[in-house]
Amino acid sequence: MFRLLRYLWPLPVSALGMLLAMLARISGGHWQRAAGVVEAWGGWPAWVLQAGLPFSGPVAAITFGHVVLGDSIESLDATRVHERAHVRQFERWGVLMLVLYPLAGAVAWLRGGDPYRDNHFEREARAAEGGR
Ligand SMILES: [Zn+2]
Repeated sequence: MFRLLRYLWPLPVSALGMLLAMLARISGGHWQRAAGVVEAWGGWPAWVLQAGLPFSGPVAAITFGHVVLGDSIESLDATRVHERAHVRQFERWGVLMLVLYPLAGAVAWLRGGDPYRDNHFEREARAAEGGR
C-alpha cells in the first residue's frame, strides 16, 4: 500500500520525466529500468543537461519523480546514489517538490548562499553520498 503511494504521490512529475525519457529515446538516446526507477541517457535531454540549467549550470543528471535523466550512462552510474536520494525526496514530498525545491533554493540565496549548492534538497542528496 505505502509502496503504491510512493509512486502515486509524485506521479505527475514522473509522467513529465517519462515524456523527457521518451524524447531522449527518440532522439538517439537509451533507457533502462533500474530498481523501480527509469534511467534515460543521451539524445536531446543530454544536450540540455550539458548546455546547463538555470542556477546550476551543466549537470550530469536530473531526477523527475521516478525518472532520472543523465547525459551518459557513465554519468548515471556516477550519480546514482545522489539521484536516488532525490527519488526518495519525491517519494516523501510528491508533486510539492516542484514548489519546495525552488523555494529551498530561494531560501539558500536569501541567506547569502548558492541557490543550487546550498539548497536543502541538494545538501541532503550530497549527505546521502557521504559528502557534506
Ligand atoms: Zn542533486
